[in-house]
Amino acid sequence: MANLKIQSNVELGFPEDFTDEKCSHSRFFPSKVGGKPSWLALSDIPTPDQIACSDCNNPTIFFAQIYAPIETNDDAFHRTIFVFICKNKSCTNQDVKIFRSQLAHLNQFYPSDPPDINEDNFKIDDLIQLCSVCGGSGPLKCAKCKAISYCSKAHQAIDWKKQHKQECTTLSKYNSTLASDEVLFKELEIVMETEEIPDENEEKTEEEKLAEYEQLVKDGKAGTLSDVKDEELLECAKGIEEDKVFEKFKKRIVHYPDQIIRYERNGVPLRISDAQLPEIPRCEYCNSERQFEFQIVPQILYELKEDSVDFGTLDVYTCSKSCSIKDNPITYKNEYILAS
Ligand SMILES: [Zn+2]
Ligand SMILES: [Zn+2]
Ligand SMILES: [Zn+2]
Ligand SMILES: [Zn+2]
Repeated sequence: MANLKIQSNVELGFPEDFTDEKCSHSRFFPSKVGGKPSWLALSDIPTPDQIACSDCNNPTIFFAQIYAPIETNDDAFHRTIFVFICKNKSCTNQDVKIFRSQLAHLNQFYPSDPPDINEDNFKIDDLIQLCSVCGGSGPLKCAKCKAISYCSKAHQAIDWKKQHKQECTTLSKYNSTLASDEVLFKELEIVMETEEIPDENEEKTEEEKLAEYEQLVKDGKAGTLSDVKDEELLECAKGIEEDKVFEKFKKRIVHYPDQIIRYERNGVPLRISDAQLPEIPRCEYCNSERQFEFQIVPQILYELKEDSVDFGTLDVYTCSKSCSIKDNPITYKNEYILAS
């Protein structure tokens, strides 16, 4: 009985190296962390103003994208959620931005047949002007060569110092490789797999153990709760409550320690603490309720060997209707993210 496992409703995302670098391209509709964003709709991508951190005003950097079409919604045959995060360590309130883009099966950007890896004629740069460093919208051009675009003076300056100064007038083809390496997160594919957890009978035993322990605490046989004043007792009790939530979090994560994404549209996020949740704002385009869709768990920072950002979990809430350009012409719609 000990090894009996049941499937949960959660799809887990695991980091893997791309087998072929090409697979990270927009036309393969990847789920991934790091690198440059693989934009879905190839028009009206978020502007530098929309991407800028509301606290330090630096460009937020592409962090992750999840390809999550909705079978029952013709307008969401292709659908990707994008997460951007401020990487500026000295920023006091590192902003997280979230955008949803979706397309019908027949659309102006992608052929309706699945893409062929050997076909090389699909160039995004012809359709949208991208920042050579971060892959965001790039309305600024190098004044000298007028061949390279940037999202911001900040990224132009990094590229100038790292590489472009030497190559500005001589280039025909150019990649801001050095500046990108400094600015971007490490790129990894996200591969999804259904979560399996031990059978409930086993779970119950764990819960029973916890209940037993709590009874001991109440009876004063564990810890020294009987010695403390009422107020302190209240604080202690809160502490126990939070630990319990965190214990539950760890207990669930431990089955797949290298998971970085937990996806369950209209499910519930795994909480890391019992801090009170704010009210989730309704969709600003169609006024539908937003529902939980996926969360990014802190293991991702370990996988990326990244210390420029810090969080417990990032919980993403999206429009329950997943409204389309029919509801509002905005191509990249804002969604809601809760950092804990
Ligand atoms: Zn910032
Ligand atoms: Zn940029
Ligand atoms: Zn130049
Ligand atoms: Zn909506």
